[in-house]
Parts: sequence; structure tokens; C-alpha cells
Amino acid sequence: QAKRNGKHRHELFHPSMATEATRLVQLEHDLRQALLEDQFEVYLQPIVSQLDGSLVSAEALLRWQHPTKGLLTPIHFMTFLENSNMINDVGQLVIDRVCQYLAADNIDHQLPDNLRISINVSARELFHPDYVENVKATLLRYGLTGQRLEFEITEGVAIQSIADAIEIMRQLKTLGITFALDDFGTGYSSLSYLKQLPVDTVKIDKSFINDITHDNQDAALVACIMAIAQTLNLKTVAEGVEELDQADWLRQYEGVCMQGYLYSKPIPMPDFHQQWKKPAA
Ligand code: C2E
Ligand code: MG
Ligand code: MG
Ligand code: MG
Repeated sequence: QAKRNGKHRHELFHPSMATEATRLVQLEHDLRQALLEDQFEVYLQPIVSQLDGSLVSAEALLRWQHPTKGLLTPIHFMTFLENSNMINDVGQLVIDRVCQYLAADNIDHQLPDNLRISINVSARELFHPDYVENVKATLLRYGLTGQRLEFEITEGVAIQSIADAIEIMRQLKTLGITFALDDFGTGYSSLSYLKQLPVDTVKIDKSFINDITHDNQDAALVACIMAIAQTLNLKTVAEGVEELDQADWLRQYEGVCMQGYLYSKPIPMPDFHQQWKKPAA
């Protein structure tokens, strides 16, 4: 904080700084405990076809069943996790749960054939020297190919080293894993990264979708993103679709998939295949 305020500012001690430090120490302790005591859960949110609302894929989203605070979403802890090595353990937990879920016979038979589940991967995870090997070993352990997974990255991974990011992505893609560029449009140089990174899908950030039916600028931006995606031969997913009007507006673009509360909130794994099981033949 002192740094951000510029070097010409004198750092003054403020009681809120002590409170913040205490909060972070507590959070770190609680997160370690969460790993030990298995308090993390993976929820799934459907991504559906614009044509008939049928299931196309699903996104795995982390939840923390905190012993006193209840169910927490990542906004309460993800930044801290990503700035610590714990994200590697938590990321491994997520991919493990997802693979276990996909490999379970009684569950897989209820899901659409070869359903792909997408997993959010932080820069720190992707650049971990053992990452590719760990992913390979996990797939092997569950007898799955990478064709059941998509990794969602943000352009943040490219900031560190775009050449390294591309190389790691290539290795993962040889396993059959596809990539999505998440939160598209919210960063600094989305277009340049979109061109360079070997991604298959663009996820249009919720902030562009919110006012799409009554804000001409947002509508124009989404139209541009759709045109770019089509030029680059990328799939598109609209994030945070909450209203029927938004879905109707998006339907003018053939092929765009929808993700949002209009269709379903993220739900616990056991409920997912119950609610989204494939229609009986
Ligand atoms: P994201 O990857 O962009 O995920 C989409 C977020 O939008 C999720 O928030 C989802 O619950 C929320 N969402 C989906 N539809 C709607 C809607 O219609 N309305 C509203 N208001 N929200 C909607 P969530 O689950 O809180 O996750 C937040 C972020 O935390 C994710 O954003 C992702 O960046 C990160 N994250 C979540 N799980 C993981 C994980 O396992 N690993 C890593 N590294 N990051 C994760
Ligand atoms: Mg995501
Ligand atoms: Mg997103
Ligand atoms: Mg995100």
C-alpha cells in the first residue's frame, strides 16, 4: 500500500494496518487448516447451448466450507491463495476432484457423452515446474484423456512470460486439453494476447454482458469480440447471463454458449448430474 501511494509519501502507521495484518495471519492459518481438514469443495456451473439450453460443458468453481463463516466464494480468499504456494495444493485438489468425478462410472453414465469440464488455472500453478507432469499423472491415475478438460486462464499468465506460457500450453494441448481465455476484455492488452496464446475459447466477461441490451457501447464491444472470435476461429462463451433479454440478444451470434444464473448457479457436484443428466434414450 505504501508503495502504491508513491515514494514521496511518508508511511504512517495506522491501526487498520495492524487489523489487516491480523486478518491475513488468521486467513493463512484457516486456509492451511482447510487443506488439512478437507473443507474445500468443487461446485459445477453448466455452460449451455443457445439453441435449446442443453448442456455443453461445465465450469469447476472452488468453494470453502468455513467452519464458522459458512460457505465462502473465492472473492474471500483467492487473491491470498494465488499469492502463496497454497494455490498449487488447492489447484491439485480441484483437478483431482474433477477427474474423480468424470471417472466415476455411475456419474459419467448420467452425463452427456465425453462432457468436458473447465478448470480455472492461476499463473503460479501453470508456471510451476512440475505442473504438466502433475496433470499428466492425475489424468493417468483416473484413466482419462485430456479431452475431458479445458483450462481457463487469464491474460495474467502471459504477463510473466508469453513464450513460456505458450510452451506450457502446447505441452498440455498435446494431452487433449483445450484452453479458454477467461474474463476477456477486462485486461490491458487482451487482443495481443488473444492472437498469440493458443486458446480455443474466449469467455466474454460478465461486465460486458450486464447492460448489453441497453448500453450501445457494450453491445458494440461484444459485437467486436464476436467478430474477432469468428476471424480467429474461436468458440465463445458469454459469462454472467442473468436475464432472458440478454440471452435473446446474444442469440444473434450463432454458436455462442451461455453461462449464468439464468440457467443455473454453480451447484455441488452430487446435484449436478442429477439436475443435468442426459435425457433418457
Ligand atoms: P471466473 O472464472 O470468471 O468464474 C465465473 C464467476 O462468475 C464465478 O464466480 C461464478 O459463480 C460467477 N457467475 C456465473 N454466472 C453468474 C451470474 O449470472 N451472475 C453473477 N453475479 N455471477 C455469476 P465465483 O465462483 O465466485 O469465482 C470467482 C473467481 O474465482 C472465478 O472467476 C475464478 O477466477 C476464480 N476461481 C474459482 N474457482 C477457482 C479455482 O478452482 N482455481 C482458481 N485458480 N481460481 C478459481
Ligand atoms: Mg473461469
Ligand atoms: Mg470469468
Ligand atoms: Mg476470473
